[in-house]
Amino acid sequence: MPEWMRLVLAGLLGGVVGSFLNVCIVRLPADESLVFPGSKCPKCGAPVGWYDNIPILSWLVLGGRCRACKDPISIQYPIVEALTALIWIAAAWYYGLTTGGVAAALLGTILLGITVTDATHMIIPHEFTFGGLAIGIVLAALDGWPGLRFALIGAAAGFALIWGVGTVGTWALKKDAMGGGDLWMMTMVGAFVGWSGVLLTVFLAALLGTLVFGPIALAKRQQGLQLPFGVFLATAAAIAFVAGDAVWAWYLGLLGVS
Ligand SMILES: [Zn+2]
Repeated sequence: MPEWMRLVLAGLLGGVVGSFLNVCIVRLPADESLVFPGSKCPKCGAPVGWYDNIPILSWLVLGGRCRACKDPISIQYPIVEALTALIWIAAAWYYGLTTGGVAAALLGTILLGITVTDATHMIIPHEFTFGGLAIGIVLAALDGWPGLRFALIGAAAGFALIWGVGTVGTWALKKDAMGGGDLWMMTMVGAFVGWSGVLLTVFLAALLGTLVFGPIALAKRQQGLQLPFGVFLATAAAIAFVAGDAVWAWYLGLLGVS
């Protein structure tokens, strides 16, 4: 198969996966079934036909409005579909048709889902984290014992680090410092990036969170403005997955260790 055709296929598949991711993003925080009922307009309840459910295209053709009642449909839908398609194209281009490519596409999809639910609802659904953990371990096991060991140690490291930070933080701040969502998210991420990737992810997320969220919190001066830490963990985890080894090599080089 020529390279361009592989990338087109990856994009089409990513768009379809992104369409399902939209369903997850809307229904998981509300504890609704992913399967039943089928898609319908939240305003007028008109069922959405398959021809109005084609990733990205349908939203554009309909001009971002429900076919029946003309109520606006959130632009979140085509954006999530387009981003998922881009993630799958990038994974196919960078890793090819390998276990690493499949892992990159699925991890990227789950991290995007977590980013949106955490940013909008302050929720990291267990379906994303437990499902991702299972996917990460199964994919790693395809590489035999070294891969499985890498994933299991990574998952344990993710769990232990966040559990430790959460316990110390709760004791120091006298309130819950880390949500259960963060805990299971980093367990899942650990299965993909290993223990050194876990350290890098948490460090980068804390750095990004301080740089990006600090000024926002100061500007708004809102009491109890909560940090959607999952958003920063997701960004950092993606960096750790793609460039973790390079970042560690650079850092250890600075220290003169290697
Ligand atoms: Zn409608």
